[in-house]
Amino acid sequence: MELACLDLEGVLIPEIWIGFAEKTGIEELKATTRDIPDYNVLMRQRLNILNRHKLGLPDIQQVIATLSPLEGAKEFVGWLKECFQLIILSDTFYEFSHPLMQQLDFPTLFCHRLITDEHGYIVDYKLRQEDPKRRCVKAFHELNFRVIAAGDSYNDTTMLAEADSGILFRAPANVIAEFPQFPSVTSYQELKLQFIAASSRELV
Ligand SMILES: [Mg+2]
Repeated sequence: MELACLDLEGVLIPEIWIGFAEKTGIEELKATTRDIPDYNVLMRQRLNILNRHKLGLPDIQQVIATLSPLEGAKEFVGWLKECFQLIILSDTFYEFSHPLMQQLDFPTLFCHRLITDEHGYIVDYKLRQEDPKRRCVKAFHELNFRVIAAGDSYNDTTMLAEADSGILFRAPANVIAEFPQFPSVTSYQELKLQFIAASSRELV
């Protein structure tokens, strides 16, 4: 009984905030946790910018719907679902990811939620729990699943460490250097081979 857990942004779809900033030309939305380490401060700033530009959730979703999954992502998800039970563990929000998940045929997704007012403006957000990716893997272990996980960034490393096998996919050089214990690959074909190698079953 094996689960595949995948990060979403950077693994199957582009970074949503960056893609949205590029589509709308709102440069200040390109700030990430590298610029503003406190996630709550960063999110408050993002919500303020959206409100200042009078962008409600429906407008934002329309722009996000023009983004596409990464090339080859849909086929990779299809293969993974044939061989494993797939669960996407992400720090995005259901309301943002919906248009992109549609293009991936809606795999199971555990992430966070946005809170909107009656006019569709985003007024707040609700994180499901702290350290959610690692805690999911822990919970899956308690349910007697083996877990093979892949992600691209710092916020994935506790998940990769908790999993029976962790794989870095298209990770930046500093993450690869800091976490040499995880194999690191850059193509879906290589990622597929890593999943096959990490599986306790004979997969073809
Ligand atoms: Mg990511």
